[in-house]
Amino acid sequence: MRTLQEAALEASTCTRCRLAKGRTQVVYGTGSSDADLMFIGEGPGYYEDKQGEPFVGAAGQLLNRMLEEIGVRREDVRITNTVLCRPPGNRDPLPDELNACAPWLEEQIRLVDPRVIVTLGNFATRTVLGRAVSISRVRGQRFPWQGRTVIPTFPPAAILHGGGESSSQMTALRADFQEIKAALAEAPAPAEQQLGLF
Ligand code: SF4
Repeated sequence: MRTLQEAALEASTCTRCRLAKGRTQVVYGTGSSDADLMFIGEGPGYYEDKQGEPFVGAAGQLLNRMLEEIGVRREDVRITNTVLCRPPGNRDPLPDELNACAPWLEEQIRLVDPRVIVTLGNFATRTVLGRAVSISRVRGQRFPWQGRTVIPTFPPAAILHGGGESSSQMTALRADFQEIKAALAEAPAPAEQQLGLF
């Protein structure tokens, strides 16, 4: 099995879908290569595309703060996205782009081997669970998946663009991070359930 660095190097020149044309760089993922906790967002935005790191800027700061609240350091988690290149104008990724990029995500999950995966928003949740779900319905729940636990929650950007600190979404995000903390504290679930694309 190759290393995460080798996979990232190969991904950096990927041209499997049209998103290769508009990107500054491939944003493969950052953080620990053997993290227990992995976050999967939708795709790189403007600043992520420029800096080559997922979840920078205001959304990244909110993610950092939520991690602090549950006593987890950002450098100890893995952070990536469903598509590794920025969709133009931050539009939603298209189905063929998600499919083209899925092998990169699948490999990254396999190499990092996290116990808990947090999917941020509809696209990440649907990509991992492989079914059309609404984030507002499934957020905060635990889904067994390939020997791991998947917990969907709202993407930080949705809080920033929505009601902000006093919103019900922010309250839900805080509750979901407590669920993440609890899942991390538990022993790995023995039962495996095959769901999703991978
Ligand atoms: S989005 Fe994924 S599949 Fe498309 S070019 Fe970038 S790395 Fe390749």
